[in-house]
Amino acid sequence: MERRFDILVVGSGIAGLFYALKSAEHSPNAKIAIITKKAETDTSTNRAQGGIAAVLSNTDSFDRHFADTIKVGGGLCDEAVVKKIVQAGPVVIEELIQYGVRFTQHDGEFDLGREGGHSVKRVVHADDLTGKEIERALLVACRNNSNIKIYRDHMVLDLITYNESGQEVCAGVFAFSDAEHLIDTFFAPVTMLATGGLGQIYFHNTNPRIATGDGVAIAYRAGVDVANLEFIQFHPTALYLPGRMPFLISEAVRGEGAKLLTIDGRDLMKDAHELAELAPRDVVARAIDREMKESGEEFVLLDISHKDPEFVKSRFPNIYKECLRRGFDLTDRPVPVVPSAHYSCGGVMAAVNGETSLPGLYCAGEVAMSGMHGANRLASNSLLEAVVMAEQAAKTSADFLRQTHFPSQVPVDNPLASSLKYPRDKMLIAHDRRELTRVMSDFVGIVRTTDRLYLALDKVHQLADAIEAFYLATPATYAILELRNMTTVAELIIRSALMRQESRGLHFIEDYPERSDDFLHNTVIEGLKRNEVH
Ligand SMILES: Cc1cc2nc3c(=O)[nH]c(=O)nc-3n(C[C@H](O)[C@H](O)[C@H](O)COP(=O)(O)OP(=O)(O)OC[C@H]3O[C@@H](n4cnc5c(N)ncnc54)[C@H](O)[C@@H]3O)c2cc1C
Repeated sequence: MERRFDILVVGSGIAGLFYALKSAEHSPNAKIAIITKKAETDTSTNRAQGGIAAVLSNTDSFDRHFADTIKVGGGLCDEAVVKKIVQAGPVVIEELIQYGVRFTQHDGEFDLGREGGHSVKRVVHADDLTGKEIERALLVACRNNSNIKIYRDHMVLDLITYNESGQEVCAGVFAFSDAEHLIDTFFAPVTMLATGGLGQIYFHNTNPRIATGDGVAIAYRAGVDVANLEFIQFHPTALYLPGRMPFLISEAVRGEGAKLLTIDGRDLMKDAHELAELAPRDVVARAIDREMKESGEEFVLLDISHKDPEFVKSRFPNIYKECLRRGFDLTDRPVPVVPSAHYSCGGVMAAVNGETSLPGLYCAGEVAMSGMHGANRLASNSLLEAVVMAEQAAKTSADFLRQTHFPSQVPVDNPLASSLKYPRDKMLIAHDRRELTRVMSDFVGIVRTTDRLYLALDKVHQLADAIEAFYLATPATYAILELRNMTTVAELIIRSALMRQESRGLHFIEDYPERSDDFLHNTVIEGLKRNEVH
């Protein structure tokens, strides 16, 4: 089926929903479609616990938030971008409230939390279910807007591009409808890619099932450059549950005094960093990784049982309940935790206003690489970046929409969607997916070596070849489409990691354990040109 809109939004997390709402304000007559892979709330946004970092108290300042962000970013943040995003923080928090988000307040003041790397309390939250509250409020606002239509269970495969006077232009997307098993074409002069992260590429991860890096693969195949994909943030403390997806225990719990212990009860962070449990995430994750490798154990312990049980239950009602549901009482004894892939600092290269190198294509949220995070992300800066980029992209793309002349007929000679191969055997797909995630966790995890990266690259190439060779025409499924994207993104991560012959921020490689000024730049991989797509 063929559909035409003015604005397409791929993704229903904070970036996509906020962008759709702001676009409806800037372009009141525009017809807007939100296309989302599964149910509307299947997003990382819906899982965010800690909150959003913004300067909201007298004891804080833009300079302090800027300095904390730059310090954690390991020399690779784009300072102009950080300034813009930090300064927009209080405004977007107010706008979120206008859309109905209820942040926790006491006596009319925000109840601000403190997280690793922040020099003051500045994380605004809604109890420990901040993302769920944001997702709820923004979805209600979108559903109440008659210009916004939501297509759920539609997986975007590729961008539609056409050549205008020698320049490729984005004209919409091809999407696979899960219910109808058909490929739909959505045409529009403006497309916003807000597809979130890629944590599912790793075996231990905190992300929802949708986080398979689709946006990075889609943009890369359409010729858009990607950058800094070696910088994968591992969350130090996901609840360890063998064979089941880990549940994240927010670092706000460490912010309230939880200690990290070895299995035999030693204080794990005492000599690892001056900030101990509040050290940046990469430092904490590496300390745990080292302890696990040295002890041979599969997890370490997180202990907040020394705190008043009533305080723990009221400050972390959801985390307490979810741990209890899985058989662990936080108030009673230490619980087992393991580092898990959590956030991608790299992604599709985009300006802070969402613009990419492909006219008509905008990008916001975790899928984008704006320069905000550099080599490492300061906790709770990601929701902030997503919402600020979405806001600025709505302004910029509204101007583009007014000025652009969109053809009534777009020549669809795009080779991208037609290059799809289809699955023959579901078992193979599940097996290949598991193998890919294990390879990434074992060889491209917290501590890397050049040899292991080459080994991983070999295995990923074999998997990619297998996908091409084995999967012949039967009905398409999400599984094969996702696996295709996951192998593409895995390869890009490994290539980026091999290019950075130094250790910086989230990228630690034993062969080059020091920082080097030779690598004081982004790791950019050029998008594929038309004739390179197979
Ligand atoms: C457990 C957890 C806790 C976190 N806690 C915090 C926190 O406290 N503070 C903070 O700042 N950050 C936190 N983060 C990170 C933050 O939540 C995410 O970076 C942010 O929510 C990403 O928002 P987004 O809109 O870019 O993507 P998402 O919210 O992930 O939304 C992505 C959307 O894109 C859709 N999509 C993906 N691929 C396709 C496709 N091919 N076709 C159609 N649709 C597609 C998905 O279905 C989904 O609707 C946390 C992350 C996790 C996983």
